[in-house]
Amino acid sequence: MAFKVVILGGTSEGRQLAEILAEDPAYAPVLSFAGRTLSLQVPRAPYRVGGFGGVDGLARFLREERCAALIDATHPFAAQMSSHAVRAAQLTATPLLRVECPAWRAAPGDRWTSVLDMAAAAAALGAAPRRVFLSVGRLEVGAFLAAPQHDYLVRAVDEFVPGLPRARVLAARGPFEVAAERELLERERIEIVVSKNAGTPATYAKLVAARALGLPVILVARPLLPPAETVGSFEPALAWLAALAGGVGEDGGAHRAADHTAREPRGV
Ligand code: NAP
Repeated sequence: MAFKVVILGGTSEGRQLAEILAEDPAYAPVLSFAGRTLSLQVPRAPYRVGGFGGVDGLARFLREERCAALIDATHPFAAQMSSHAVRAAQLTATPLLRVECPAWRAAPGDRWTSVLDMAAAAAALGAAPRRVFLSVGRLEVGAFLAAPQHDYLVRAVDEFVPGLPRARVLAARGPFEVAAERELLERERIEIVVSKNAGTPATYAKLVAARALGLPVILVARPLLPPAETVGSFEPALAWLAALAGGVGEDGGAHRAADHTAREPRGV
């Protein structure tokens, strides 16, 4: 019987993992989305959309699906879902692995200011009007109503009405390239960048471009998550699943899963 894996998605790493597992008959993955984006990019894997109804709802889902392993590949800022995953895994005795890219760290030339939350990021922009590249996600833009004096270029996956007096929305989905990010920052005469510390390679290019242009960046630090076994990318998650599913080398399924780690990562 195929090894049932529930993957809590929201990141390119979760999507990559689900799509690789879906090609392997040894596994039966289901990728779960919160439904935050209006234009869902349909994965090449079985998926579902929407909340479970809290910890108990997730625990019920894991039991009903006869889930053998739970992967938390949510966005590092989806703290509630990660905390529910830990508690539901305990309740159902389901092995849990968190896949989370390490936080970005400043390199020489970076002019970063780290803040604890969006309200602090809005305050850190200062009193004088500036041209701001706001790359924090559609759901977080409201915090910048506290700083309406700035000109915002808001980049988000979906087109939306930002509700800020001096804002334009640029709808785009990563991954992004450094040259294009640099061209965008220059063309828009951006003076400061605001971002979450997402840690994913898919959205790092804007920080490289900001460094090259000598622009300051306000980085919102990640929320604290309850402890869980964690890996930094989807490749070690494949190895973890292969070991759980029967041990590398014991059967073809596990071999195939381990072999997937040599593949090229795919896009978001
Ligand atoms: P959250 O606060 O951790 O989750 C809120 C609720 O959404 C959860 O309790 C759960 O509902 C549902 N949910 C979240 N992730 C889910 C998933 N993968 N599958 C099914 N249900 C899920 O997360 P959030 O409200 O989505 O976002 C919080 C922050 O993370 C924001 O800053 C957002 O911009 C950022 N973020 C999230 C995503 C994402 O895909 N969720 C992607 C990029 C960025 P129930 O309690 O009903 O189960």
